[in-house]
Amino acid sequence: MLNNKTIGVLALQGAFIEHIHMLESLGATCYEIRQLSDLTIRKYDGIVLPGGESTTQTNLLKKLDIFDYLQKLISDGLPVLATCAGAILLADNICDNTTEALHPGHLQTLPVTIRRNAYGRQLGSFTTTSDFGPIKNVSMTFIRAPYFNSIESPDVKVLSTVDDHVVAVRYQNQVALSFHPEVTEDTRIHEYFLQEVC
Ligand code: GLN
Repeated sequence: MLNNKTIGVLALQGAFIEHIHMLESLGATCYEIRQLSDLTIRKYDGIVLPGGESTTQTNLLKKLDIFDYLQKLISDGLPVLATCAGAILLADNICDNTTEALHPGHLQTLPVTIRRNAYGRQLGSFTTTSDFGPIKNVSMTFIRAPYFNSIESPDVKVLSTVDDHVVAVRYQNQVALSFHPEVTEDTRIHEYFLQEVC
């Protein structure tokens, strides 16, 4: 059932309202996660980590004491849809657009290396079309986006590529995207999350 899922949307910073509108249009009930008690107070069917700025988001998660609890929920199997900065939060390792040096990731629940600002910082925004697993011709908007530089487990499934770069993956309960489906009219990725992951 699409319409009976309860989704927590991390709402510390970035593009969270757009996810809430899209999920609610599909019948889900959404709650904004702004403090630890928003996470502990109810049982969620899934959680969304939105785009924004990953360093800022991590700092806020730590300052508000949400970080460890969130990490455990995801490790224990809570379905998560992570877009852009959210995907950076999940990755085990991070590299940037200028060097090959690896930095340890933040939540480190997703066995990939993600390349931040992979398309350059300034000229980093564009829209294109590609497939997402079995879902064809998805409009994909990239905003100072990362891509998945390497995949470190055979259990990570590639769902989308653009110009030979991996831009969407699934690993067990985690779906991570380089792009922003929530800023388009196309609800199919959110439907996939509600139906196939949550
Ligand atoms: N460049 C941002 C970061 O590194 C991500 C951009 C986005 O979420 N649209 O966190």
